[in-house]
Amino acid sequence: MQMVAGKSFQNIENLLQKVRFLRGHLRWVIFWPLAALLFLILGWTLLLNDLNTDRQRLEQTARSNVIDLAKNYAGNLARTLETVDQTILHVRYEWELSKGTLQLETINQKKLFHAGSIFQVAITNSDGYVRTSTLANPSSMYLGQDRFFLVQKYAIIDFLYMGQPKTGRLSNENVLYFSRGVSKPDGSFDGVVVVSTASHYFTSTYNQSSLGKNGLLALVGDDYTVRATRVGNKVGSVGAFAFAQTPYFPTLSGSHLFNGRTWFADQRNRYIGWQQLEGFPLVAVAGLDQADVLAPYWTTRETSIRNAVLATLALIGFALIAMFLSARLAWRKHQLERTQATYRMATEEGNEGFYIIKPILDRSRKISDFETVDCNSYGARLFQQRRDAVLGKRFSGLFPEPERRNLMSYLAQAMETGFYEGEMESSSSQPGAAKWLYLKMVRSDGELAITMRDISDSKAHVSELERRGNEDALTGLPNRHWIQTYLPQALERANGEQAMLALLFVDLDGFKSINDTMGHLVGDELLCYAAERLKVAVRPNDYVVRLGGDEFVVIVEQLAERLDAAHVAERIVAAFKEKFRLSQGIHTIGTSIGISVYPTDGKDAATLLQNADIAMYSVKTTGKGNYRFFEHRFYEVLRSRLDREHELRHAIENDEFVMHYQPRIDMQSGAVSSMEALVRWKHPTKGLLEPIEFIALAEETGLILGIGDLVIDKVCAQLAAWSRQGRTVLPVSVNVSPRQFNQGNFTKTIAVCLKRYQLASDLLEIEITESCMMGDSGDVANSLATLRSMGIKFLIDDFGTGYSSLSQLQRLDFDVLKVDRAFTSEVEKNEEGKVFFTAIITMAHALGMRVVAEGVENERQIKILKFLRCDEIQGFYVARPSPAGDRQTDFSSRPVPALA
Ligand code: C2E
Ligand code: CA
Ligand code: CA
Repeated sequence: MQMVAGKSFQNIENLLQKVRFLRGHLRWVIFWPLAALLFLILGWTLLLNDLNTDRQRLEQTARSNVIDLAKNYAGNLARTLETVDQTILHVRYEWELSKGTLQLETINQKKLFHAGSIFQVAITNSDGYVRTSTLANPSSMYLGQDRFFLVQKYAIIDFLYMGQPKTGRLSNENVLYFSRGVSKPDGSFDGVVVVSTASHYFTSTYNQSSLGKNGLLALVGDDYTVRATRVGNKVGSVGAFAFAQTPYFPTLSGSHLFNGRTWFADQRNRYIGWQQLEGFPLVAVAGLDQADVLAPYWTTRETSIRNAVLATLALIGFALIAMFLSARLAWRKHQLERTQATYRMATEEGNEGFYIIKPILDRSRKISDFETVDCNSYGARLFQQRRDAVLGKRFSGLFPEPERRNLMSYLAQAMETGFYEGEMESSSSQPGAAKWLYLKMVRSDGELAITMRDISDSKAHVSELERRGNEDALTGLPNRHWIQTYLPQALERANGEQAMLALLFVDLDGFKSINDTMGHLVGDELLCYAAERLKVAVRPNDYVVRLGGDEFVVIVEQLAERLDAAHVAERIVAAFKEKFRLSQGIHTIGTSIGISVYPTDGKDAATLLQNADIAMYSVKTTGKGNYRFFEHRFYEVLRSRLDREHELRHAIENDEFVMHYQPRIDMQSGAVSSMEALVRWKHPTKGLLEPIEFIALAEETGLILGIGDLVIDKVCAQLAAWSRQGRTVLPVSVNVSPRQFNQGNFTKTIAVCLKRYQLASDLLEIEITESCMMGDSGDVANSLATLRSMGIKFLIDDFGTGYSSLSQLQRLDFDVLKVDRAFTSEVEKNEEGKVFFTAIITMAHALGMRVVAEGVENERQIKILKFLRCDEIQGFYVARPSPAGDRQTDFSSRPVPALA
């Protein structure tokens, strides 16, 4: 219901809109019909006027023609009548001369009359009987009752009588009679000479070419009798043959249009000319048929009118179409204006420039520019202008010269495809001018509607983000993201220039352990210094990129030969020979560099990076601190490493590890003081593997964490198993890798495990290497303190091999110091070894630590160590690491000689 109401409301609204439009654009709608009407009136007036003139001219001509014809006719008639009269006079003369003996019957007619004439002559006596005649047997003929006889009988003068026509006695034709009286010598009446002739003779001069088919010739007496008439081919004189009533002519000569209905039997209008005959009381009448006269006029008129009607129809059609089209155009324009106005109003408040522009065409009908038809004030403000200063001007004028070309191509594109959308950078240096514009163009009715937005701020924001996205926050070097976009372009360039390009994959040697042990702050500091050093070492145009962690990439472009890349690598390696002076002491760190060269080692960025990485890895596994070009065989190395890693992971999942135990002997008592748990891998195919085969890989890959957890669990389980034997159980030391130790949850792992197996915490000892405590990390100190407070002993492993910091040792409480095997072997070789060992023992004792000599392999060593007051020993000489027996003491050991 509501919808219906809404719809009809919309209809009304539509209607109102159309009415309003019509009111505003009425002149457009009625212009064409009005113009057509005016044109038609003018045209028709001209045409009709023209036709009228034509007609008048024709009538004029006809009227002057009929006068001429009448005059001509009158002349002819007069001559004929004179001939008739001459004949009568001649016959009378002959008659009187012959004293009444003239025999007309015998007279050669040809002599008397004109050849071809049809006159008959007769002479009567005074009673009216024919005496002689040109007719064959006139004897019985009596003419005494005829007017031509009676008039002459009583006439007092001699005159030619012209009688009225009547049907001839012999012929059935109209005949005219002419008579003169004949007198006796005494002057008394003696009959008449009468000449009769067919009345058509008097109209025989009728000429069709001048009078037409319906022309008229007539001979009318001034007694108002018509003597002879001829209309076209028809002749006659009597009755209503031609004239419906007796014509009357007011003047001697003239012309007039006679109405057919009033005057003529055939009811045709005629132009009648008349002329009084000279010497005869007769009027010669010539008539031209009005229809005949006007026939050409009517034909012309008909064609003209028909053409004019066609033209009128065409014009009306044209006007209607034009009206429709202009109304439609106006409607479109109106709608466009409305849309524009609405749009402008809508955009006026917003922060979008809005423009309507229309193309300006040059002579070759190509678009040379655009005219700004409309724009909102914001649109003008975008170019620091006022709206009225922009309207009607060239649109391209708003833009600085360098942008115009681009702009015109966008505009052309929009004109062609109907749409364009894009961004445009402006070189305008005017303060406040937009640096970046966002354009959207839509073609509509041959014009373009454009919206424009100042996107300078967001553009700046984006480019800042981009810069940040491409930059490593720590070192300020370009980052992985940057290289992903830059490298493909650089490769494309190199490809275009047929040049080589090298990637140096730089990895810092030993960075991980510094980071793990000294903490991230030190690591970060070191990375910054390393970045600096790299930048100095490379050539000015080379890029140093930080991929992440301690991995860097140097892009060496415009490489003349492979050797150039080697030189750069050499300089980097050399640069890292120098020590780093950090806030936390002095550190040495090397670099391993893998080099891949475009195009030999790869065509694309990913392959080149991967191969440089592989080459770097190859350096890592063969001594570090060097550089290497990529070789395909490195793949194999990597492959096998990956395989091993996979195997190791699998081993952790399957728990393929077992623990061996090696006792530590107290020098004083000769008894076992503790045991070191050493992990072994029961490899499914390779047999029992020692740590040297897999610990390094486990450390590198982080798998050491999984192994570490397993080891703690196994050791605890073993301790629990031994303690179930009911004997006193000795503590076991576990090797913990720095990574494992520095893991946040290490303390918890230990606590949970001890609890699970219900072990006293003093049964567990932890061996960590020196490097573990190198950093300043409070975490290390904290977990150490926590674990120690639980009663867990801490042993420094491999003492002497790492970078010892006595202050660290002092700060962190350790229980035992295990001197590395290398020093143990030295003690028996030279004095220095002894001195070194003595120093360690003195120092350790001073700090309250016991000292364990590792790797004791012979009796001599034991003796010296005992002399040097070493507290404990461990080594093959006493016992090799072996699997756990049922009892903790189930292992084959050799008694310590000094004690034996
Ligand atoms: P380490 O902590 O220094 O362990 C002592 C190593 O010295 C053991 O080697 C042991 O078999 C060996 N050894 C003992 N006495 C002698 C001797 O008289 N002469 C010689 N030449 N060697 C002797 P092993 O078991 O091969 O372990 C090597 C290293 O692997 C260990 O060195 C330790 O750093 C690591 N490791 C072993 N087990 C584990 C473990 O469970 N966790 C961790 N993180 N590392 C372990
Ligand atoms: Ca150890
Ligand atoms: Ca050791």
